[in-house]
Amino acid sequence: MWQDSTLISIEKETEITWKFVIKVHSDFKYIPGQFVQIKVNDLVRSYSISSYGIDGNIFELIIVKLEGGKMTNYLFEHAKEGDNILIKGPLGKFTLPETISGDILFVCTGTGIAPFRSILQSLVNQKVNHKNIYLIFGTRERKDILYPEEMKNFENLIKGYKYIPVLSREKWEGMTGYVHNQYLDLIKNNKLEDPIFYLCGWRDMIKEARGNLKDLGFDSKKIKLEIYG
Ligand SMILES: Cc1cc2nc3c(=O)[nH]c(=O)nc-3n(C[C@H](O)[C@H](O)[C@H](O)COP(=O)(O)OP(=O)(O)OC[C@H]3O[C@@H](n4cnc5c(N)ncnc54)[C@H](O)[C@@H]3O)c2cc1C
Repeated sequence: MWQDSTLISIEKETEITWKFVIKVHSDFKYIPGQFVQIKVNDLVRSYSISSYGIDGNIFELIIVKLEGGKMTNYLFEHAKEGDNILIKGPLGKFTLPETISGDILFVCTGTGIAPFRSILQSLVNQKVNHKNIYLIFGTRERKDILYPEEMKNFENLIKGYKYIPVLSREKWEGMTGYVHNQYLDLIKNNKLEDPIFYLCGWRDMIKEARGNLKDLGFDSKKIKLEIYG
């Protein structure tokens, strides 16, 4: 069922990645990690909810502009604060298990960070039992890193959490290369205990990561995917 909502603000996070804040007009509850569909005219696209715990049926989306993309063209060129938007959801099962028995690895590129930001925000001040949680976030250059301070600061707020940003096109004091080396290193160095992998973002990265993990013998039940396209 489509629900009325209002686009209450649009903010730039980076040049091509913007935050869209939405207020649903009726009661709206979701599990961190879920997504919504939005409908503009006859166009329907899915977006992961990237926030958690904002009062008043409000949530955030983080969306990258794609050249030639129909919905992103609308959102970046025409949408304005106060617009009415139809949404459906929450949808999806890209959520934490009820009981967490092993380490959790979040692996993402670009706006694939969205569901993990929601999950991490939800873990702050919660008494959820968990082991280590790694966020491996890949992008090209430092200017493209999404929420660097917030993601780093979760290390002070969530026990056992570690943030690993990786740049593929710029040398810096952090990790360089692709996300794959980072989880492969953790596996090789026996740092992980009974891990569940959450892979989120565009198809190529997910395909490669899933292939690597399956080749290493990880059960597909322990590899959760959210493929953006
Ligand atoms: C569960 C789920 C969650 C998602 N969450 C997010 C999220 O949090 N953030 C996010 O940014 N995205 C997310 N996505 C992706 C999102 O749903 C859209 O696919 C994305 O925004 C592109 O939509 P679009 O209409 O702008 O592009 P489309 O019009 O669908 O085009 C898709 C691609 O085709 C190319 N293309 C389109 N038309 C042409 C043309 N005429 N010639 C050449 N190339 C063309 C575009 O450049 C683009 O690369 C998610 C997807 C799923 C399934």
